[in-house]
Amino acid sequence: MALRTIRVIGDPILEKETKAVKEVTDKTKELIRDMFDTMYDANGVGLAAPQVGILRQIFVVDIGDGKRFVCINPEVTPLGDEVQTGEEGCLSVPDKQGIVTRPMKVHVKAMDINFQPYEFDAEGLLARAMAHENDHLHGIMYVSKVEGELEDVEYEALDEGEQ
Ligand SMILES: [Zn+2]
Repeated sequence: MALRTIRVIGDPILEKETKAVKEVTDKTKELIRDMFDTMYDANGVGLAAPQVGILRQIFVVDIGDGKRFVCINPEVTPLGDEVQTGEEGCLSVPDKQGIVTRPMKVHVKAMDINFQPYEFDAEGLLARAMAHENDHLHGIMYVSKVEGELEDVEYEALDEGEQ
């Protein structure tokens, strides 16, 4: 298990656009393994490559429903007009949370860890995580979308909502 350092807000790399992945090499797979390790170690539900200093279009998500998602070169598109408004957090913004409105459902097209295309619909928390992580690939931090003020996370809530 190898943990990578999570970049925190204020680090300029978090505000940069990422580049598409052209091929999945052993190094890419190692990065993805490390991203999962780093995410689980920090009790997160998602992590994008820029958060560990890599400007590539890769994110991983596991909201705890038994599925691990690797999304390479993803396209995340809202499905319908329904939205959800709720608490969101980010491993790059430690101990904070804020209210963000996201699509209730999204469609995701991406390449998997073997660089094969796949697609799926996501709803609720999974849709929120996909939208949040996809924003990281375009240099967008959730704090720019928070309605009202960022709040301090209550300690007992630390296992939830961090992405
Ligand atoms: Zn985040």
